[in-house]
Amino acid sequence: MEISKELDKLLKKVEKPARYIGCEINSVIKEPQPGMLRFGFAFPDTYEIGMSYMGLQLLYHVMNKEETIFCERVFAPAMDMEDCMRRENMELFTLETKTPVRNLDFLGFTLQYELSFTNILNMLDLGGIPLLAKERTEEEPIIIAGGPCAYNPEPLCDFIDVFLIGDGEELLPKAVKLRRKGQTKEEYLKELCKLSGVYVPAFYEPEYYEDGRIKEIRKTWEHAPDTIERALVRDLDAAEFPQDLIVPFIEVVHDRAVVETFRGCTRGCRFCQAGMIYRPVRERKPETIKRLAQAQLDSTGHEELSLLSLSTSDYSQFETLATELVGMCREQNVSLSLPSLRLDSFSFKVLEEIQGYKKSGLTFAPEAGSQRLRDVINKGITEEDIYSAVKQALELGWNHVKLYFMIGLPTETQQDLDGIAEIAKTIKAINYELKGRKGGRFNVTVSVSNFVPKAHTPFQWEAQDTEESFRKKHDYLTKQLSVKGITFNYHDTEISRLEAVFARGDRQVGKALARAFELGCKFDGWSEHFNGAMWKRAFEETGIDPAFYAQRKRSYDEILPWDRIDPFITKAFLMRENERALQEITTRDCRQGCAGCGMNRKAECMPEEDK
Ligand code: SF4
Repeated sequence: MEISKELDKLLKKVEKPARYIGCEINSVIKEPQPGMLRFGFAFPDTYEIGMSYMGLQLLYHVMNKEETIFCERVFAPAMDMEDCMRRENMELFTLETKTPVRNLDFLGFTLQYELSFTNILNMLDLGGIPLLAKERTEEEPIIIAGGPCAYNPEPLCDFIDVFLIGDGEELLPKAVKLRRKGQTKEEYLKELCKLSGVYVPAFYEPEYYEDGRIKEIRKTWEHAPDTIERALVRDLDAAEFPQDLIVPFIEVVHDRAVVETFRGCTRGCRFCQAGMIYRPVRERKPETIKRLAQAQLDSTGHEELSLLSLSTSDYSQFETLATELVGMCREQNVSLSLPSLRLDSFSFKVLEEIQGYKKSGLTFAPEAGSQRLRDVINKGITEEDIYSAVKQALELGWNHVKLYFMIGLPTETQQDLDGIAEIAKTIKAINYELKGRKGGRFNVTVSVSNFVPKAHTPFQWEAQDTEESFRKKHDYLTKQLSVKGITFNYHDTEISRLEAVFARGDRQVGKALARAFELGCKFDGWSEHFNGAMWKRAFEETGIDPAFYAQRKRSYDEILPWDRIDPFITKAFLMRENERALQEITTRDCRQGCAGCGMNRKAECMPEEDK
């Protein structure tokens, strides 16, 4: 079937046809040459979400810079398009050349979120590719996966040929270029294992105790590495970054120029996987950031510029950079958005600079309602910090404050929940005190997520709350926050439990995943598509107990499914941090002195402030 011709007919029947046509400004089409390696960058969600993800733009750029590689994009079709494709027997195709993904050399999935896993199976199936790696032949593409969820690859091991752990721009082109003509897949995968960051699940096999815990993860090929050390970009300033972003024809979640200012975080929040697996902090120089920002604005015509990192204001030269960017954006009539500003390092000088320029809600993430619990999670913020920041923000004219909290954290008590409501009410009271009744409209939004223990964090051994306990807490907070001017929302408990199952799952949970897909689960991260009853059935039919994975506290000596993956922080450090959490002892930010996470054995860390 020639997809391009058939596609024209289908596009008349679906919502947002621009999701499937490609040809956007800065998209890349290469003339396929003999020996050229064809790679499909697969994003397991819709076009609008995938196109807002900087990692896609970055890897697309990095891969297509290689003469011998042609990287195209592949997205999960929306439900209406999938129905049409299945009815017409149309296989999943690449956006650039409408090539069936089955004809590529590689199909590489980015794993940003556990609940996109069924979409991966659905995309393989739509592509006519057998789901199980062991059932695929030499004819089908090699299926790769990478991204933060690859740090516990086990739930997907039955379906993926190779996981790439760590910084993709460092590893992905090297891994793809190693492929030689005439090589069998096995020969290639054995060769590939010599690179840092490569995990081939077929070379490892877990054995289990009767109660389901892992007894041993055996190697099935003696030369497979004992541990998989992540790939690392050491010099971010010198690393590739796209200047020619693809500009979508339709509105996507984030449609703007965006430059990554730094990677990593020094704060050490104990629940946060990103804060652990992206260490050490690596910064781009301000002049590099400005140059990239200008190049992106020139090549795209975007009207908004944003900065990307885990915590914008932790950039060592944040005030200077932000001030310069404000000037640059003002001159060009471009709006500047500075996300993830943190309370304790919040620069009101910068805030004033952007005042009157663009005012969206001011976002703070205290995460916990009491100082005690904030110490447990190592969130170095006091209530003083919160209120003084809010006061200054109110004086500068903000009229909407968004607060993010997490419930179900280890050691949480009733007082901690009360603290959430108290903080929201105090902020309202501060507004009233400052402005009185005539203060105009003022709104506080409280968003509560449910704690999901993640691999490679100090809380990786901790249990998640039961769904019943989460529901009671949600009900309680709903009552406490039923106050005019306060909006309260919270995450779905079933979705959070499923996230926890896959975040710490082993290879066994792959069976439930495959069954859930067969039953019709997809787009599980979208609450309107999530089907809890189908997942329940999938778990029951495969004999997988979700509570075993989500709600069970592990002991330190238990073998964890991700133990062979080495993010360079030591398990001893994570244990020590977990113990300190339980004793309510904080650990300093490593810019103020090394906390001994082990990272400096492998790379130079961010210099301490006084160095
Ligand atoms: S080794 Fe020390 S300075 Fe480096 S990331 Fe770990 S705690 Fe921070």
